[in-house]
Amino acid sequence: MIFFGKKASVIKQEHIFGLSCPSCQANNSIHGAVVGNYGHLYWIPTIPLGKTVVAQCEHCRKTFDEKDMSIQMRDAIRPMLEETKTPLTHFSGLFVIGGLFALGIYASINNDRDNLAFINEPAVGDVYEIKEAYNEYTTQKVVSVTVDSVYCAENQYSVNKSRGLSDIDKDKNYVNTGVGYSRQELINMLKADKITKVKR
Ligand SMILES: [Zn+2]
Repeated sequence: MIFFGKKASVIKQEHIFGLSCPSCQANNSIHGAVVGNYGHLYWIPTIPLGKTVVAQCEHCRKTFDEKDMSIQMRDAIRPMLEETKTPLTHFSGLFVIGGLFALGIYASINNDRDNLAFINEPAVGDVYEIKEAYNEYTTQKVVSVTVDSVYCAENQYSVNKSRGLSDIDKDKNYVNTGVGYSRQELINMLKADKITKVKR
């Protein structure tokens, strides 16, 4: 479930001189404020939803939305809207989402780089996660490495989701069938996403 909602916060307020309160007639009692509305995702402000002005009498505490303001009040307070910028904090959630997205890309790049490094320098014990077909994944484990070839033991089991591979990656499941690859073949398999990951 995603928690999304709307909130508002006062961005700017100032005393407006020369106005009297339409409600209690007190002189010089009006404050004007700019309110920024925003949508929040899990209570983190994410999308600014426009600004409005409000007024409040500091004497009787009555508040006035723009539509309730006298013409003089509106003329005095309305310019605050143009003078007030939407604060960056109202975009915080976007920065968080952007940050998470960048982290994901960074992790994925790192992962790809590690995989290629492991394929280029194969070591006994490396486990290759292999996509055999659509919805068919298995693993092979490196048992010996020569100058130009890599020999693997094959897992007797396969699973239909790559994240299930850790369940079958057990020593007792591997059988040494003598399957071997040239180093170039391994690189090609990685590039073709047939080898999806190298675990070391
Ligand atoms: Zn008042």
